[in-house]
Amino acid sequence: MEAVKTRVKQDIRKIKPEQLNTFLAEAGEKPFRARQIQEWLWKKSAGSFDEMSNLSLKTRDWLKENFVINAVQVAQQQRSSDQTIKSMFRLHDGHFVEGVLIPTETRMTACVSSQVGCSLTCKFCATGYMERKRNLEAAEIYDQVVLISQQAEENYGIPLSNIVYMGMGEPLLNYANVLQSVDHITSSEGLGMSPKRITVSTAGIAKMIKKLGDDDVKFNLALSLHAANDTKRNQIMPINETNTLKALQEALLYFYDKTKNRLTFEYIVFYNFNDTLEDARELWEFTKRIPSKVNIIEYNPISEATFKNTETDRLEQFAAFLEDKGVTVNIRRSRGKDIDAACGQLAIKQK
Ligand code: SF4
Repeated sequence: MEAVKTRVKQDIRKIKPEQLNTFLAEAGEKPFRARQIQEWLWKKSAGSFDEMSNLSLKTRDWLKENFVINAVQVAQQQRSSDQTIKSMFRLHDGHFVEGVLIPTETRMTACVSSQVGCSLTCKFCATGYMERKRNLEAAEIYDQVVLISQQAEENYGIPLSNIVYMGMGEPLLNYANVLQSVDHITSSEGLGMSPKRITVSTAGIAKMIKKLGDDDVKFNLALSLHAANDTKRNQIMPINETNTLKALQEALLYFYDKTKNRLTFEYIVFYNFNDTLEDARELWEFTKRIPSKVNIIEYNPISEATFKNTETDRLEQFAAFLEDKGVTVNIRRSRGKDIDAACGQLAIKQK
């Protein structure tokens, strides 16, 4: 069997199936080998060619000579007093990202990262204070889901039920890889999960929200809103300067029109910043035309910023105002605070 022409070892999971078929045919392998290899790579999440036990040693050697599997590894794991597990994942080039397993009574949710760092500099978010280094490959996102899913089984004996793209990075700035990772997660040749159990959360890139509509995606979309007037939102999310609330509203209506997927708005309540009844009224005005629900999220202070979590009675009044207007509201208590695993706290800190 001859080696493929280029001697640079390629990441086998970045190669399109048709291309792998061609390489294998050139190497004199039977067509069904490609299917077996794909099954090892995705469904069985093989981290090395040696694991591919139904391939001949010769085929495995040929694969090793020509390709690599850039598998993600768990470098560190921390368990919160509320059973949340945060993992630091090591990527093949030495970068790190974080992911979180959030167990609740009804769900086992994996929160995964889509970029190393983030370029959007949201003021309340620890990742926003890190430099963006690179996008994650589809396989690197997929690996996080697989590893967190193993943690769910090993620690709680319950399979993963939901996946949220709310870790480090802006998913819609890594559009192609994020969509490809969802394809693998939902494919019967991958994890076979329903797209309805996946939520991609964006800080708000209007053009890409419309593209999701054009691509008729089946997963859920969440917008990290956090303020429903441009002046306030500009202060905490600089992306709003070029993607105003009006542009976002239009993009979300377009998305809904195309996909009929109900939106989720994430709204962190900061003390004395966006927690008054006037803020609640603006939020209602913004959301009322869009079939949606609102998740009100407790804030977890980070050392880089001075925002504080709101007080319980202010939060309750805020939620009650929205409910009175007929908005579907969920209050999300913070999880994994003691290990910096809560929303907005993810940043690589070696312990
Ligand atoms: S909230 Fe999301 S988009 Fe904003 S800086 Fe943090 S990771 Fe990036």
